[in-house]
Amino acid sequence: MTDTYPDWAGAIRDVADFPRPGILFKDITPLLADAPGFRAAIAVMAAPWRAANVQAVLGVEARGFILGAALALELGAGFVPVRKPGKLPGATLVQAYALEYGSDRIEVCAGAVAPGTRVLLVDDVLATGGTLAAALLLAQRLEAEVLGAAVLVELDGLGGRQRLPAGLPLRATLVY
Ligand code: AMP
Repeated sequence: MTDTYPDWAGAIRDVADFPRPGILFKDITPLLADAPGFRAAIAVMAAPWRAANVQAVLGVEARGFILGAALALELGAGFVPVRKPGKLPGATLVQAYALEYGSDRIEVCAGAVAPGTRVLLVDDVLATGGTLAAALLLAQRLEAEVLGAAVLVELDGLGGRQRLPAGLPLRATLVY
């Protein structure tokens, strides 16, 4: 929360049974459309990483692009898209993973960052942790120095945090 706009988190909408029955979907689109809310959310999300000398943000398609690009600008870092398969040109690294609903693969351009680059992983929601765990593997295959992971929302109880290495700094702005 921020002093200037304490209620920004209220702009995240809960949608029951989307995209399939049993899933409570955290919809950040109303927050993104709310200019002071979006700004407040990015400021709070960036706060733990301001002194970390982040050189590149790895954001996961698609909502991780929106938050990750804003965070990269806020932190003075570059941005690297981690995409769904078939979207990136040239040589890529591919990683399969399981979702809360279904399974998928993500990929990153080979050589997207130089070995040793200080990177921060970013996504909107941490659910079962499969997506971030796969992004971490891609970052490690790039030989990046992974500083940690930042998510706007952590869904506690789905075991996402446990799926990531215990030593990986993981900062969630909101925990539900
Ligand atoms: P997971 O790999 O299970 O941690 O799922 C995280 C990814 O799936 C993120 O990219 C989210 O955008 C999306 N996701 C999973 N569960 C939800 C949810 N309940 N609400 C919104 N997004 C979700």
